[in-house]
Amino acid sequence: MIEYENLRAANAPFMNELRDAFARVLDSGWFILGKSVQAFESEFASYIGSRHCIGTANGLDALTMSLKALNFAPGDEVIVPSNTYIATILSIVQSGLQPVLVEPDPRTYNIDPSRIGDAITPRTRAVMIVHLYGKACDMDPILAVCRARGLRLIEDCAQSHGATYKGRMTGTFGDYAAFSFYPTKNLGALGDAGAVTTDDDALALAIRRLRNYGSDVKYYNEVVGYNSRLDEVQAAFLSVKLKKMDEITAHKRALAGLYLAGIKGEFVLPAVDPAFFDVYHIFNIRHPRRDELKKYLLEKGIKTDIHYPVPPHRQNAMKGIITGEYPIAAEIHATTLSLPISLATTEDEVRTVIDALNAF
Ligand SMILES: *Cc1c(COP(=O)(O)O)cnc(C)c1O
Repeated sequence: MIEYENLRAANAPFMNELRDAFARVLDSGWFILGKSVQAFESEFASYIGSRHCIGTANGLDALTMSLKALNFAPGDEVIVPSNTYIATILSIVQSGLQPVLVEPDPRTYNIDPSRIGDAITPRTRAVMIVHLYGKACDMDPILAVCRARGLRLIEDCAQSHGATYKGRMTGTFGDYAAFSFYPTKNLGALGDAGAVTTDDDALALAIRRLRNYGSDVKYYNEVVGYNSRLDEVQAAFLSVKLKKMDEITAHKRALAGLYLAGIKGEFVLPAVDPAFFDVYHIFNIRHPRRDELKKYLLEKGIKTDIHYPVPPHRQNAMKGIITGEYPIAAEIHATTLSLPISLATTEDEVRTVIDALNAF
């Protein structure tokens, strides 16, 4: 059986260092906002190339607090891709703001910059982009429209750790960038974890406050905050894995290279463009008979996944919040299939998957 994801195997190369990290935190007797969080925040900020990193409890909170810190009025609008994981949109709704969906470029699956202008209204305050599957968005036209129309920019980097656009890291373009370190993400903790990066000192301070009950000094509360801190133990694990980030990325890119060269026939493969350094959080193909293909692969002992089966605008949770049809997002959701590409996936396994696909 070829697994889609096996987190025990994916963490096995780091097992001894993770055990040591756990022992150090246990011995320290300090579990919230201590030296491990500080160390990881500064390591991750320098990895991304941002001035500040603020650890949070998860990626959804990182997105939500980024919006909260920008102090928009209730009902203000935030532009967001129709083709994303629902967390991106939930952060807007949870903040009392109105999501306005924009269709993707069907070649890259990311927000189509040429459609952003038409979605702007007098109430639009921000654009929240997603570097989906580990490919950066087309940033030049996005930055141009944000600058021209005076909109804030927030990047959802939950799938793009280490991905670049024209040599520049995702997570350095926006006023804020939100990261998730959910266990399956390219940089994955051993539980929930997230972070916000920013270059702006005041915006960084606002997130530090919000994540810790709105407080700068213990028991003095300046704003209505959250409890959304990165745990010491998760920070210690993340420091171990951040050192291996380049290895993790190289492995995924090597597997992606095999898929791209080997898969023939009626499949739509991910776009490759020299200006984009893709990190393949997900390696997706598209096929008109996706469900049949998934079943066929499983019969051959190959597990796959679907990211995602239901587009956000068709989710029950979005009834009365999102109206309108988003046919490009719907078509992608109906035809996409994610192939195994974890750190634990081997080149031989990828060759087996390629042979099975080419015989479909
Ligand atoms: C994983 C993910 C999130 C949410 O991160 P959590 O840490 O699970 O809260 C947000 N946006 C995207 C695109 C994601 O893939």
